Amino acid sequence: MILYSLRCAKDHEFDGWFRDSAGFDEQCESGFLACPTCGSTEVSKALMAPRVMSSKEASVTISAQAKQAMPQAVELKRKLLALRRAVEENCDYVGGGFAEEARKIHYGEAEAHGIYGETTPDEAERLREEGVEFGAIPWVREDT
Ligand SMILES: [Zn+2]
Repeated sequence: MILYSLRCAKDHEFDGWFRDSAGFDEQCESGFLACPTCGSTEVSKALMAPRVMSSKEASVTISAQAKQAMPQAVELKRKLLALRRAVEENCDYVGGGFAEEARKIHYGEAEAHGIYGETTPDEAERLREEGVEFGAIPWVREDT
C-alpha cells in the first residue's frame, strides 16, 4: 500500500491509500476518487508528504514497491541520512536529557554547544514556550 498526498483542482489537500501507483491511476480515471472537501474528481498527486516521524515509520514508508513508485521518497531518505550523520558528527548526544541540557545552554548555565537527543512532546512544547530554539528531524535508519 502506498500513501499519496493528493490535491484537487481547488487546491484542497488530502491523503489516500492505494494498492500501488497504478491503483491510483485506475481510481482517478474511473472517477471514484473525489476531494472530501468539495467533491471535485480532478485530483492529482501532490508531493509525497514527508511523514517520517519515527525510524520505524520511515522504514515502512520507504520500502518495497514504494521505492519504485516514489523516487522522491528515496531521495528524501538519503538526505535525512546525510543530515543524521552530520548531526552525529558535530553534536554531542545527550539522550533523554535533551530538554534539561538545551535549557542550561539557553540560560547560559552550560557552554553553548550542539546537542541532540530525545524529548517528549510535552517537554518540547515547554521549551518552545521558554523561547529555546531547537528543531526536530526524522531519525531514519540506515537499512536498505
Ligand atoms: Zn477540493
